[in-house]
Amino acid sequence: MVPLTEHDIRASFVNCTKGETKRLALPRDLTERPWADLDFLGWRDPAAPQRAYLVVESDQGAVGVALRLAAPSAGRARRSMCSLCLTNHSGDGVSLMTARKAGRAGQQGNSVGVYICTDLACSLYLRGRKQTGLGGRLHESITLAEKIDRTRANLVGFLDKVVAG
Ligand SMILES: [Zn+2]
Repeated sequence: MVPLTEHDIRASFVNCTKGETKRLALPRDLTERPWADLDFLGWRDPAAPQRAYLVVESDQGAVGVALRLAAPSAGRARRSMCSLCLTNHSGDGVSLMTARKAGRAGQQGNSVGVYICTDLACSLYLRGRKQTGLGGRLHESITLAEKIDRTRANLVGFLDKVVAG
């Protein structure tokens, strides 16, 4: 993706108030992110680890969503799959994250959940730049470009649910 500036990022959020957008903690390593290998920019707030953010490019410009990590529930399977990039993780490598819906639906307390790589590094797992150990990724006969397209489609599907009324 094309590198985003702090201004681009703050202007992109669809499910935050203006005050929240102003205060949210941006990644400190923004200029060093491997932009060319990213399908979306994702990060956790180092000061508030239950807060996570992702920003994706769309036809309408950058779209950002603020997420909250759900507390891990007891008895949950130790192995789980990211619903965006389909990478398997053990332990807490995948988290349920919830996004308040945009607009009125969000004000009424509605949210959408998604299981996603806890470190939001889906793009790097897809490209083999980050590993989860044996069995992290299924061997598939489709190309990297197809995997990237599928991840993007999963992400767009999630964003559509966030902005749907
Ligand atoms: Zn993932």
